[in-house]
Amino acid sequence: MKKLLIIGNWKLNNNKKIILDFCKKLNSYLSTINYDHHLKISIAPPILHLETFNLILQQLHNNHISLTAQNIDVNILGSFTGETSISMLQEIENIKYVIVGHSERRIHHNETKELIAKKFKLVKSFKLIPILCIGETKEEKNANKAQKICKEQIDTIIQLVGYQAFDKAIIAYEPIWAIGSNQSASTNYIQYMHQFIRHYISRYDINISKKLIIQYGGSVNKKNALEILSVKDVNGVLIGNSSLDCDQFIDIIKCTK
Ligand code: 13P
Repeated sequence: MKKLLIIGNWKLNNNKKIILDFCKKLNSYLSTINYDHHLKISIAPPILHLETFNLILQQLHNNHISLTAQNIDVNILGSFTGETSISMLQEIENIKYVIVGHSERRIHHNETKELIAKKFKLVKSFKLIPILCIGETKEEKNANKAQKICKEQIDTIIQLVGYQAFDKAIIAYEPIWAIGSNQSASTNYIQYMHQFIRHYISRYDINISKKLIIQYGGSVNKKNALEILSVKDVNGVLIGNSSLDCDQFIDIIKCTK
């Protein structure tokens, strides 16, 4: 049975009031299923809500749900108004993963590949697991450059941290054109890209590539989740809109059975 990692990326959505009900419902659903180590569930709320989320998970004696940070600053401390550092996140018990290089940060916050590689390195050095988001625009896809773009995004990490960095790291392939579009990539296209990514890493280290978790993200919902999760080289999904409502999120989790 392949391992699946399901993460809900709330982006800048949902509020504090929702968290308690969400956690209770999700936790009680997960305690009813034969939950094993093949399935991992995590939520990436806005940074401000991580602590609340964590406290609620502790109160529920949760051991099914972990937390993911949507971003961190590249600095650990100092005069960086408005930022959050990895050392602060590390103090929050249930945090396991940190997303780096989401396309929305690359686009709206001008994050370069080099900056993202530095963040990736920082997350690793603090013993949390980076989730590197990669993916191409519609124009790049139409110009047959999708693989080239993803390769470049991976190469910048390898240049700074070495290929070994992908041991205990996750890649989320999120084609930019599929995000928030209500139209996921086709399963053939997802396999074509995921296979390419795994094969590319295997040129450095076959064992790392075999173990590598490659998530798909981009308009995953309860209708297409089963199909997407069944794709050979898909090891999980990173979900935006359909993770905001607990019932919809649970419907997606049900597709892992
Ligand atoms: P949607 O599921 O809303 O398309 O968002 C995907 C995404 O960006 C997850 O990180």
